[in-house]
Amino acid sequence: MKHETFIRLPGTTHHISRREFGAGLGIAGFALAAGIPHNQAQAASEIQMVPIPVSISVSVTSPYEYQGLNDDPWSCSVSGAIANVFGLGSQVRVRRNIDNFAIYTVADVRYQDPVNRVRMGSAARQRVGTPNVFSATLHTALATKLMSDTQAKNAGEFVERIADAPHHHGLAVLAPHGGVIEVKTDLQARWVMDALPNADVSCWICSGWTSEGGAHARWHVASTEIHPASFPGLATIADRGFAYAVAFHGMNAAGVRIGGSAPDELKEMLRQAIQSAVGGYSVELAADDDPNGGTSPDNIVNWITAGGGGGVHIEQGPLIRSKYWFAVAQAVADVFRGLV
Ligand SMILES: [Zn+2]
Repeated sequence: MKHETFIRLPGTTHHISRREFGAGLGIAGFALAAGIPHNQAQAASEIQMVPIPVSISVSVTSPYEYQGLNDDPWSCSVSGAIANVFGLGSQVRVRRNIDNFAIYTVADVRYQDPVNRVRMGSAARQRVGTPNVFSATLHTALATKLMSDTQAKNAGEFVERIADAPHHHGLAVLAPHGGVIEVKTDLQARWVMDALPNADVSCWICSGWTSEGGAHARWHVASTEIHPASFPGLATIADRGFAYAVAFHGMNAAGVRIGGSAPDELKEMLRQAIQSAVGGYSVELAADDDPNGGTSPDNIVNWITAGGGGGVHIEQGPLIRSKYWFAVAQAVADVFRGLV
């Protein structure tokens, strides 16, 4: 296997290249964690993916008005030199000091900027605790150490795990916001995988923790922004073309909302199964104009499926996740058991 640099430029167009990104990349260039070599890993064998450490000293300043980043808490721009490491559309960790760091998406590249320049608006700077300009270091989004969930929790870290076999193309079960970013969603993805042993099912989980709260502000990457350049496990399945994908999410509103670009018939099967599992709580299909409806072609749950038409995006309120997380997961597993 040819050894390649760990981050590839995802291309000049922001969102287009995600599904093609995995092709040919494999896991070259990534330090694989866990005791199981990837070529022996079966679906039920979950491994942590650990990127090669990167550390770049930068100065973080304000964006130009015309960059459109002023009111965007989640994005930054980087110099052309930095874009050779962290390309357009990828995620970076910006670390201001030992207590203040967060993940941002590279939304713009400033080729005329000094080599160490990063730009973000004041709302984005507030995520690392200051309205001012500051010096920082850029790192990979993910932790570069092998950790159990307990260790990651104690360290307040962000980790990626995958369970996959190269011939899988049935169902991808996704939890991009596990840990305490959206509580219980990682456990739900694992539950589905465990409920379908030996099935054509792969599972991808990201989990983030913080010691002092604020996991959402620190670790959340929108489902429409997640880029395989920053997630080596995701890169291995990004071009697979699964028949179906299901992603577990948490929302502040009550009940359950089922969206994504999968056929309504499938979403209705899931709605009925989940409704039976959660009693009187509201379980609805997302409205067409619902901003959390998960129908964007840029949403990971859609582009990871063949033709973009097999994704189911499930948003769940806090009570559902605390009281019924396993019942919802089992209902989802029961529906997909007949399909993969
Ligand atoms: Zn989410």
